[in-house]
Amino acid sequence: MSTTMVAPHSKRPIADDKVFAANKKAQEAAKKVGAEQVINSTLGALMEDDGSLSVMQSVMKTFKDLPDAEIAAYAPIAGLPDFQQAAEKAVFDEYRPAGHVRAVATPGGSGGIRHAVWNYMEAGDTMLTADWYWAPYKTITEEHGRKLDTFQLFDENKAFNLPSFKEKVEELLGKQERLLIMMNTPAHNPTGYSLTEEEWKEVLDYLKEKQAKDQKKIILYLDIAYIDFAGDMKTSRGFMKQFENLPESILVLVGYSMSKAFTFYGLRCGALLCLSSSEEIADEFMAAGTFSSRACWSNGTRGAQKLLAKVYSDESLLKKVNEERDSFKKLLETRAHAFVEEAEMVGLEIFPYRAGFFITIPCENPDKVADELAKNHLFLLPLGRGLRFAPCAVSEAKCRKSVRFIKEAMDKV
Ligand code: PLP
Repeated sequence: MSTTMVAPHSKRPIADDKVFAANKKAQEAAKKVGAEQVINSTLGALMEDDGSLSVMQSVMKTFKDLPDAEIAAYAPIAGLPDFQQAAEKAVFDEYRPAGHVRAVATPGGSGGIRHAVWNYMEAGDTMLTADWYWAPYKTITEEHGRKLDTFQLFDENKAFNLPSFKEKVEELLGKQERLLIMMNTPAHNPTGYSLTEEEWKEVLDYLKEKQAKDQKKIILYLDIAYIDFAGDMKTSRGFMKQFENLPESILVLVGYSMSKAFTFYGLRCGALLCLSSSEEIADEFMAAGTFSSRACWSNGTRGAQKLLAKVYSDESLLKKVNEERDSFKKLLETRAHAFVEEAEMVGLEIFPYRAGFFITIPCENPDKVADELAKNHLFLLPLGRGLRFAPCAVSEAKCRKSVRFIKEAMDKV
């Protein structure tokens, strides 16, 4: 008889993370047949054409030049004050909506999601997100004794499915006092979709009307992990102005991450921001977030916080960092464009891609297709009803080649 020591709520299947498992297979194949023969489109990190990690040199140099004590010392629990200000600038740029903003430092974007799930949901409540979503949303809700439900992101014409969104909000607000809605846009993972300003208007008009009618609490979480790869400032942030003057019972939370924007994945830094028309609600956010940080990870990575503060207090450094990121963004756009163009040419169906690290191909039997693709040394992430391809991780030539492999494998399986 096997003994189990963990408490019942922590009994988990012994399995590798799906992304890291697929990456492991790709690395094993590279050892056997050589990296040039392998297309490793599994990880959500920007890679050079040769498969090595892209790292922003302007960022790394600034980080390594920090005084030792700025890296080694503790940061305040809620983050360094100049980091909090820098995070606010990084999030909104010129599109800061009027209202009360606060920021709490978190270990990457993941930490912000955790705090929202814990502090803005009651035990057993359900969070709403799109049916195509980043898997850790489910992990985080489950870990904290909450549930996850989804609306359909796209309708049959592959347009944003507002009726499905409304239907699910109606259903969940019929059952609970507050609703946390997780919106990953712009440059959604896994489809690369971004809501337009018009679609945001429709979402907000509906939420305002709904809140006025039901007098319940709505927490709109904007997960902007990929925002700096989603076009220019206006394209990526213009919609945020619409968050101005929302009623007190609609609170906006923004999950900011330095992981992609500063190639800082492993330094674990980000921030959770709130925007509220009420100062009291903003202060309440700060108190809850700071308490939660103390309980979960105490303080964040000081060196990473200092780096952001430094970049945003030095115009010429900011310009340099932005220019370097722009060159990465161009590379990503070229690769994704090649994939989309090739998909159109061979008739491979994909979801509407606007920007970002991933493209999704709808697929009935993704695991089988992924196994078939592995025979051609192409590794990607099989999802429930699709395949996630990551142009962030492979060269333009391999992006083009992948489309043909995927089409062939789907026709065969
Ligand atoms: N949100 C989405 C949709 C993501 O894909 C990621 C990273 O892959 C994150 C948030 C946050 O990542 P991190 O905690 O590494 O900053």
